[in-house]
Amino acid sequence: MHLLDLLAARAEPAAAVLMTVTRRCPLACAHCSTASSMASEQIDAAVLKRFVGTFTPADRPEYVLLTGGEPLLRPRLVRELAERVREVGGRTQLLSGMYFAAGGRIPVPVRRAIDAVDHFAASVDAFHEREVPRAAVLRVLRQLLDEGKDLSVQLTGRTPDDPYLREATEDIRRELDDRVPVLVTVVRRAGRARTWLPEPGPAAGHRSTVPVPCSLAAWPVVCFDGTVVGCCNQDVVDAAALGRLPDHLRLGHIAHDGWAAIRERLLERALLRGIRAFGPRHLASLAGAGCDGYCAACVNALGEPGAAARAEAVLERPGVRAVERQIARLTREGGAETFLRRYGTEGYRELAALGHVTGGAQ
Ligand code: SF4
Repeated sequence: MHLLDLLAARAEPAAAVLMTVTRRCPLACAHCSTASSMASEQIDAAVLKRFVGTFTPADRPEYVLLTGGEPLLRPRLVRELAERVREVGGRTQLLSGMYFAAGGRIPVPVRRAIDAVDHFAASVDAFHEREVPRAAVLRVLRQLLDEGKDLSVQLTGRTPDDPYLREATEDIRRELDDRVPVLVTVVRRAGRARTWLPEPGPAAGHRSTVPVPCSLAAWPVVCFDGTVVGCCNQDVVDAAALGRLPDHLRLGHIAHDGWAAIRERLLERALLRGIRAFGPRHLASLAGAGCDGYCAACVNALGEPGAAARAEAVLERPGVRAVERQIARLTREGGAETFLRRYGTEGYRELAALGHVTGGAQ
């Protein structure tokens, strides 16, 4: 399972679910979007297993992305979740900060968890490197690669022109023989980064007449407390924890909702369909609502009941439904390219294809 398979699935609503296995993490990276520590919250394993237990061969996400905090703090749970997903025909990816690599060996329970998932992704950036040396991470990745594991690296810089990105990508490509895809991103102002990363400048204008679809509204996210939201924007996840989420972004809770209900809400909820097709600013504009930014239009403008009702009415017009379907088709046809163009980092997008062999094998 290659990184490009996952990125292409971004265009497919409900093709995947992101599950926060724990908010805890033994590292203390300065940019951590979840502000994780070993004292952070952790949901009962039984609740996560209950939710995954509602997947069936006929109705399940194709991909389950296990994240944290550090999911490998719960290696047995990771293994159990991955085995259950595989039983019903799905596949798993796990993203880790690789705290264990500093010790020079992979502990047995961690190794079993890595073996159980279909794709292992490592976070690498200057902040992680202060906690776990890059050389130690690459040594473990090299071992896994030589054993045939499907891998990727999620590399984060401060800005697209951060010299660190150039140096680190060259090192990773050299050490892993250009066989491991690298997804390059930049730090976002969330979690601990909020304390030092400057606020972006003011958004231009308050009306948008051009649709800018949001592909982050395609996959449900299980937050650390079990709330399920319709987007992986960390501000949305944080708003859920504070009980400040607008109705259209709240999909349910894994303690009492199963996959079928979550999937149906994600696919059928008019505002989420509209946000995926037209983007929140254009949708808010169609509803006659002012907005001061992209996600702000989603959370604030469309979170206001009057604007939400007007937007829903617009979205039910037959002509608008037809355009919505057309945009969804084009997004799907764009595959991984569409996602990388929008969310990838200029100058590094092609690294997501490293190690890809046409036909799907790595
Ligand atoms: S527009 Fe809405 S759904 Fe899309 S990323 Fe922003 S908050 Fe999430």
